[in-house]
Amino acid sequence: MKTLEQLQFENTYVTLPEEFYHRLATSPLTNQHLISFNQPAADLIELHPDEARRADFVDIISGKKTLPGYESLAMCYSGHQFGHYVPRLGDGRAILLGQVKTDAGERWDLQLKGAGPTLYSRGSDGRAVLRSTIREYLCSEAMHGLGIPTTRALCMIGSDTEVYREQIESGAMLLRMAPSHVRFGSFEYFYYTQQYDKLRLLADYVIEHHYPDLKDEVNPYLALLKQAITGTGQLIAAWQSVGFAHGVMNSDNMSILGLTLDYGPYGFLDVYDPDFICNHSDHQGRYAFNKQPDIGAFNLSCLAQALLPLLHDVPETAAEMAIAELNEYKIVFVHRYAQLMRSKLGLFDQQSQDQALCDHLCKIMQADRVDYTILFRTLSGESSESARDLFIDRAAFDNWYGDYQQRLASENSDGQQRSKHMKQTNPKYILRNYMAELAIEKATRNQDYSEIDRLLLLLQKPFDEQADYEVYAQPPPAWAGQISVSCSS
Ligand code: AMP
Ligand code: MG
Repeated sequence: MKTLEQLQFENTYVTLPEEFYHRLATSPLTNQHLISFNQPAADLIELHPDEARRADFVDIISGKKTLPGYESLAMCYSGHQFGHYVPRLGDGRAILLGQVKTDAGERWDLQLKGAGPTLYSRGSDGRAVLRSTIREYLCSEAMHGLGIPTTRALCMIGSDTEVYREQIESGAMLLRMAPSHVRFGSFEYFYYTQQYDKLRLLADYVIEHHYPDLKDEVNPYLALLKQAITGTGQLIAAWQSVGFAHGVMNSDNMSILGLTLDYGPYGFLDVYDPDFICNHSDHQGRYAFNKQPDIGAFNLSCLAQALLPLLHDVPETAAEMAIAELNEYKIVFVHRYAQLMRSKLGLFDQQSQDQALCDHLCKIMQADRVDYTILFRTLSGESSESARDLFIDRAAFDNWYGDYQQRLASENSDGQQRSKHMKQTNPKYILRNYMAELAIEKATRNQDYSEIDRLLLLLQKPFDEQADYEVYAQPPPAWAGQISVSCSS
């Protein structure tokens, strides 16, 4: 394990031409202090736990005091926001401090979100408020705990800096980590500005650092598109299976590596409601829970369009190639989603009636407003009685349950083994909005950050029984319905 000074910094992004980024330093906040430190993320970069206790830790992490290897920059990108192309977005409030290379040869972006205005801030303040920083910090680690690809969170910094949103709030910063923060929108920027040489450099960069095997493909750029289609299809299938709604699936929030990226007004389903809209600013429900798979397809088509100049010299041929690949998305998604749902139901074989069985369950859950997470966790137990109690229409449940029992009998699996498997597949705890809200309330009112650390520990092991947290395995309290989450963060 290393000290901060011993980390090996080597920012590969600066090898790209200057159009890709803007170099700048971070703007520290006033009276910065450490709110929470996440050791499992620190382990990824081999950072010693004691480093978080150093007097100058916050100064270094916030870029107030720089380390020799820091080569800080804001990345340039564009993207489709709510279906409309915005020619230039870019990191308006996030600054990449640098990349750390581990002894194992992995590279991690250290990106500070809320680090102050950049060339891409478009008149906004470059800040993130404490509330939204807590939400991203907790959710990115909760997603990792669920086994879903995501950016990670190293630590959170609070301050006395006043930030103006609908009201005055305090500014905070999140040190976020990922193998790369390149987005679909990064490609779109060079496509729409017709800088095809740079487009190629970006694709080459991603292939070189993240998918070196693709270099051997006949058409590496087509292979890159295929990779993004597979990664995105699998990611969104995983979101759907745990009941996660991202909330702002703009193409600039889509990671080329298939990571969950840019946590804003996200939400996990409480009761099963396929039309669930977590973002209160999303009046049309463009990013409703059940629209996510289609939005994934739309975003991939934006990426495919941006890659067209690289796929083939003849535009018609390039388009045909892209369309053929895009057609694979639905297959990837459906296959992965079916696999995950079978796993949630404890079905080890694949049988033709499985989809119908799953759809039937979703239908009765929706009709009776049954809690999605609690239902699957309850089904993972060995008795059906408690699952039955979650329904108002018991006859409807019995009807479904009869089919389910028959289906289980057809593959002769061992009940105990199945229950064990299901408990490792169906989380007992998810980050419900009200839980984040409790942590936010304590933090903003009393500078009490204890709930953040408690939730972090809980959500890193969402499948384990944790007796002290029993309340968090229950349905949300009535007041949770009043929580409103929007894009303002
Ligand atoms: P987001 O909704 O957080 O993914 O942000 C969309 C775009 O707006 C990105 O280019 C962000 O960098 C930018 N942005 C969001 N909030 C701010 C802010 N407070 N200051 C500057 N840029 C911002
Ligand atoms: Mg974003």
